[in-house]
Amino acid sequence: MKDILYIVVPCYNEEEVLPETSRRLREKVSALIAEGKISDRSRILFVNDGSRDRTWQLISELHDSDHIFSGVNLSRNRGHQNALLAGLMTAKEKCDMAISMDADLQDDVDAVDGMVEKYYAGCDIVYGVRSSRKKDTFFKRFTAEGFYRVMNALGAETVFNHADYRLLSRRALEGLSQFKEVNLFLRGIVPMIGYTAGTVEYERGERFAGESKYPLKKMLAFAMEGITSLSTKPIRFITGLGFLIFLVSIIMLITFIVKWAMGMTVAGWASVICSVWAIGGLILLSLGVIGEYIGKIYLETKGRPRFLIREVLDDE
Ligand code: UDP
Ligand code: MG
Repeated sequence: MKDILYIVVPCYNEEEVLPETSRRLREKVSALIAEGKISDRSRILFVNDGSRDRTWQLISELHDSDHIFSGVNLSRNRGHQNALLAGLMTAKEKCDMAISMDADLQDDVDAVDGMVEKYYAGCDIVYGVRSSRKKDTFFKRFTAEGFYRVMNALGAETVFNHADYRLLSRRALEGLSQFKEVNLFLRGIVPMIGYTAGTVEYERGERFAGESKYPLKKMLAFAMEGITSLSTKPIRFITGLGFLIFLVSIIMLITFIVKWAMGMTVAGWASVICSVWAIGGLILLSLGVIGEYIGKIYLETKGRPRFLIREVLDDE
């Protein structure tokens, strides 16, 4: 008896790509079943993240036409990470391994074979890693790679050039389910699960159709989310900065006293005004960062559910 694979695909307004995505995924899963690599109870699970177009209708039709397709319909739009988690947690009950993938076919479907192979070789987590970013615009590549560098410099362990294309074994999914945080940043949490990990390289393509659901604004919010939910270094940085500024002000004070004793009058309007502005700015910045964490604590204490499922389509 071979192991059951679930491919989990979050979808937000993806009616343009779904027909092609479902066709390619079905081909891939059928081929794997035919080769005897996975169980014939394997499924492709689409998660509808509160789409405003016909996405859910398409998913229901797919499910009716072929039971290899399953669906989860969220109560409303909860964002990529939450939608993915909803899918993975639904799959956890039914599968031995789950692969998460974007709906837009940017993730190379053929990398699935490699992931499954590594799973049988004993990996609990297999990261899909981009071999290059040739197809990204310079801007996207620059911002994204800068982001990974900053994350790692801040002490949050992330896998370089790995997005949310990965395989998790059932055991890893059980582990993931024990992370109760509301501020979800899967890329940072998965490495914390531990167990044996492997990587599979793939070439990331362009979006098959439709437009990105991650405009710059969402990307920046996502980066901020990642940094503040995984690292407390910004707070330490501020403490250090405060200390440094304090030292500088002491040195300034001493210099001014010495100058005064030597009878040199200080025409200090400029320096006073400058330091007032500098300190004011720094205080505001610090307050903002501290506020970021307080905001997180606020959200965590409420313990709100991260997603609610409206409906599940699945045949065992
Ligand atoms: N997505 C989602 N909910 C959202 C935004 C995006 O489920 O609120 C899904 C989307 O359907 C896609 C994946 O997240 O499957 C990645 O989005 P996209 O391809 O637009 O991001 P990009 O590749 O441009 O970073
Ligand atoms: Mg995409």
